[in-house]
Amino acid sequence: MPTRPCWAEIDLAAFAHNLRLLQRTADASTLAATVKADAYGHSIALCAPAAVEAGASWLAVTSTDEALTAARACAEVVPRILVLSGPFPGDGEAVAAYGFTCSVWQREHLQELHGGALQCGRSELPVHLEIDTGMSRQGVAPEDQIEFLETLCTFPTLRLDGVMTHLYAADESDHAATQRQLKRLADSLCAVRERGFAPAWLSVGNSAALLDRDLRSQLAAMASRHGLRLLLRPGIALYGVPPEYDPQPPESAAASSAGLLPVLRWKTRVTSLRRIAPGEVVGYNGSFQATQPMRLALLAVGYADGLSRRLSHRGHALVAGLRAPYAGRISMDQAVLDVTGVPEERLRTGDEVVLLGRQGDSVVTAEDHARWAETIPWEIFTAIAARVPRIAAG
Ligand SMILES: *Cc1c(COP(=O)(O)O)cnc(C)c1O
Repeated sequence: MPTRPCWAEIDLAAFAHNLRLLQRTADASTLAATVKADAYGHSIALCAPAAVEAGASWLAVTSTDEALTAARACAEVVPRILVLSGPFPGDGEAVAAYGFTCSVWQREHLQELHGGALQCGRSELPVHLEIDTGMSRQGVAPEDQIEFLETLCTFPTLRLDGVMTHLYAADESDHAATQRQLKRLADSLCAVRERGFAPAWLSVGNSAALLDRDLRSQLAAMASRHGLRLLLRPGIALYGVPPEYDPQPPESAAASSAGLLPVLRWKTRVTSLRRIAPGEVVGYNGSFQATQPMRLALLAVGYADGLSRRLSHRGHALVAGLRAPYAGRISMDQAVLDVTGVPEERLRTGDEVVLLGRQGDSVVTAEDHARWAETIPWEIFTAIAARVPRIAAG
């Protein structure tokens, strides 16, 4: 364990609570716990087995590399693992050896997976056909779908186990874009069945879709109309952050989201304390100048740890249960807090500082960081650098 005091505590009980809450919300549908990008920065090695223990039968990751990490972490009960970005060249053998389920939408994917299956002597490998219903990112275009399905039939090892798509605006409460996507998806499902395929799964829906009752019901109805089981793929909500709906959360989402618990606490310590006189400056380019006698606390965290440089002159952290603003520019490996407002007797070198999370009655959320850094909570979590150890906490 590194001795530099900058770490993230991962509350696995909160993670399991969120997963169970989402499972209750999803009712009879199945969840694929999305643990891509190192479980949104929360450590796939910690979160994948915790998800399985809490009842997840599927995990979703971005790549075969991540799937391998997840499978190894879940040594005892390996769940089904969905590889969302499709197989990359060279992935076939590992996918076939472990029986991962890749989304596929182009011939290269089929060749790669079929080749892998032959190499491993696996006679059957499940795949999920991804339909591009409007995001224009990945997936087969609806008009090319029939031809692709015919190509799929020429690869005898590959079995169509599911149909998937990704909703790009499930957080837009008017659902206009989503309804256009679902119309295309429904047409695709008809085409799949007309060609005589009988997949088991309809894989669609992120956190925003899951938490919105109307959308969730619509997806469940579509699945059941086509004799499919609905597989929802929540990510951000598992980590305790409700999706931000535009312009407003539907009532059903607000109710379920209220029970989500934050999972990650990002901490450091005060490594040094000093006083500066009025007129002295702090940090690179002296962008902060003391207007009064001030007290400063040095922290062992910087932008190389993922603490956005945009927090300079905006954000705050928690120390002694109080808010202390960042003073001057965040450096690569260090940041300085203005602790003038924290009573001197309540602060010592070595004290714990909460960058993200709760301390006493105060809290700094991922949403706060996202606002300060002008981004989204997803990026805040995944930006926390690999050198910040993730530690399981109760
Ligand atoms: C990341 C991702 C999800 C999860 O999205 P959240 O908004 O974090 O719930 C679901 N499906 C796909 C295809 C994804 O890439």
